[in-house]
Amino acid sequence: MAKNLSFSYSKMGMYKECPQKYKFRYVHMIPELPKYYFAFGSALHSVMEFIYDPARPAFPTLAEALSYFNAQWSQTTWQQKGYPSEDKELAAYAEGRREIEAYYQKHAATFARPLSVEMKSTLEIDGLSLISILDRLDYLGEGQVKILDYKTGKTVQREPDQLYMYQKVVETSPVIKTLVQQKDPSVKNVRVGQLAFYHLPSLTEMTFERAPDKEIVDFWQNKVLATADHIRAGQFSPTPSEQACRWCDYRNICPVFTGKDYTGPSGAAALPLLKGQAPTPTAPAPQKVSPTPEKSPMEVLADNIDRYGALLEETEKLRQAITTQMQASGFARHFGAHFQAELSSTSKTVFENRDKVLEILKKYNLLAKTLVPTQSTLAALLTDPSVPSQAKQELQQCTTTRTENNLHIEKAE
Ligand code: SF4
Repeated sequence: MAKNLSFSYSKMGMYKECPQKYKFRYVHMIPELPKYYFAFGSALHSVMEFIYDPARPAFPTLAEALSYFNAQWSQTTWQQKGYPSEDKELAAYAEGRREIEAYYQKHAATFARPLSVEMKSTLEIDGLSLISILDRLDYLGEGQVKILDYKTGKTVQREPDQLYMYQKVVETSPVIKTLVQQKDPSVKNVRVGQLAFYHLPSLTEMTFERAPDKEIVDFWQNKVLATADHIRAGQFSPTPSEQACRWCDYRNICPVFTGKDYTGPSGAAALPLLKGQAPTPTAPAPQKVSPTPEKSPMEVLADNIDRYGALLEETEKLRQAITTQMQASGFARHFGAHFQAELSSTSKTVFENRDKVLEILKKYNLLAKTLVPTQSTLAALLTDPSVPSQAKQELQQCTTTRTENNLHIEKAE
């Protein structure tokens, strides 16, 4: 019997965006580069899971939630999260704390036990292994549930396909039916009562009524099953667009840009994305986005700004890729045909918990010594003879050692 096709809402979204991109990601299995917005969203989702975890005897305090966030956040470096700089990562960390504090201020008094949190389900249906993660399910009574999906981007907009997919999963899943029947044994069928997006940055909830059954049937047949059929038939023609290609990690191996089919990595362990030729300003643009011949000086200026920004982003991606490859190969030095790369690392002391540090500074009247408590002014306190040794000890406990990679590229001799 043929194996079910592994499928999800995000896979469907990527296929819709560009089938060739889907092929790179899920047929050739070439991973994308880390994206900071995924790292941020994932950390906040895990905090929401921590808060509402049905297995916990009591809801955590704000301090516990912040400490959990801190622990999650500290597991990876700013590079691994995909931030362009440490400063940007620190700003995101502060924003995450702000959102958690604001969430507690608004909701802590009315926290209620959900039916489930971060529920990963795989539904074997119509030749698909449909994977979905439901952020939160609340029981509304009489067999009805509310699906809640957290959003952490700048804005939130209605994504009907996502809601349809969730409704289909919830009303079909035997696991969810069992969960509901544990609460209410008289329930024969689970129905979605409400679907909601909760936008954490603005603490705003957008709630929708369940979609009519006919819309779900149309969606399932014309979008989900039709997309799955195209994938099974190997239809992966690229659909370039300015928006999609601009942020696509596969540009340097994409036939639209290279003019030739991708034939796979040359070395067994090599990632083609990292090995491939970097896109240059002269890389051919996809047909649909070729510039119009006549442009005003202002349009040319705007184009140049965009082009410069895109090159900076591309440079940063390549820097990360080269660093990762050199580390994996154990190289401190390596050569291209025209340039050579040197990789070194430095360790530095970092103060992780700003709140705690400020508390210590206040306690020992040291705020005047650090008008602006930065990492370097705080580090200086550890060697300042006028700082009491007890204060140094406590500050020392707030530190951790971070290793930073320095990649230097220059013309080969
Ligand atoms: S570069 Fe554009 S056309 Fe090529 S895979 Fe990415 S999105 Fe598709």
